[in-house]
Amino acid sequence: MWGITLPSTLDMLGHKMIPASASSMNKMGICPSQFDAQYVGRHVPKIPFAPNEATAKGEKFHAIIETAAKNRTHVTDNDLTCEIINSHLDLCYAMPMVMIEKDFGWNDETQSREWRGRKLGVRADLFAKNGELGVYIDWKTGKVKTQTLQAELTAYILFQNYPDLTQITSRFIYVEHSQMVDYVFTRDTQYVESLFALVNQEWMQYPSETLTIKLDLLLAEYWDHQKVKEFPAVKNGLCKQWCQVTTCKHHGGRE
Ligand code: SF4
Repeated sequence: MWGITLPSTLDMLGHKMIPASASSMNKMGICPSQFDAQYVGRHVPKIPFAPNEATAKGEKFHAIIETAAKNRTHVTDNDLTCEIINSHLDLCYAMPMVMIEKDFGWNDETQSREWRGRKLGVRADLFAKNGELGVYIDWKTGKVKTQTLQAELTAYILFQNYPDLTQITSRFIYVEHSQMVDYVFTRDTQYVESLFALVNQEWMQYPSETLTIKLDLLLAEYWDHQKVKEFPAVKNGLCKQWCQVTTCKHHGGRE
């Protein structure tokens, strides 16, 4: 099984570390200052969540699909490409165990799967399990792109939560484009395959070691920034339009 480095509980408690999720790690990777503003608020005022057009659309679509999944029905909304959604809902309805909008946590020190006190966490839009096989589904709005970090972090947490799982597929379904991106993780053989189904019809294989080392490095960086309380502003493509840290010198592309 892959091994990744997690900080000690002392670090977590002493510094009130923010647990790692794909979105918090992504944010830290792009600009630590923006992470600080969104999650911590030590150096810049903490920014309350404010929905924009994209997040409002995402929430609406998630609510529609969640309601259908909970009622074991199908989606009929005109703005969604329903066929790909409904075929996956059917796939999950046929599995013996299905969880909808479920939070999974992991703390390697306490071996706890509880959300409270977690070091790593993921919210699954849908997770279905049939014996040794698990499928994690994330409904995505917006452009089709790779989701390696989220896929691997999720698989790692789910393998910890369910010791009997031998294979996990992390599947990202782009509900407006009728496309999906799959990552298949195997516990024992330790390799990862990514299928860009309906995107370019190509299988891509990565040694899991490579991805694990990458994840390990990203996590180390994530914890280090928090331990030393350093959240530098890193100019990037979001500065011009999307960042809410209006006090930053890079905001709006000023510098
Ligand atoms: S404006 Fe750019 S550099 Fe400044 S906090 Fe936002 S994302 Fe980071």
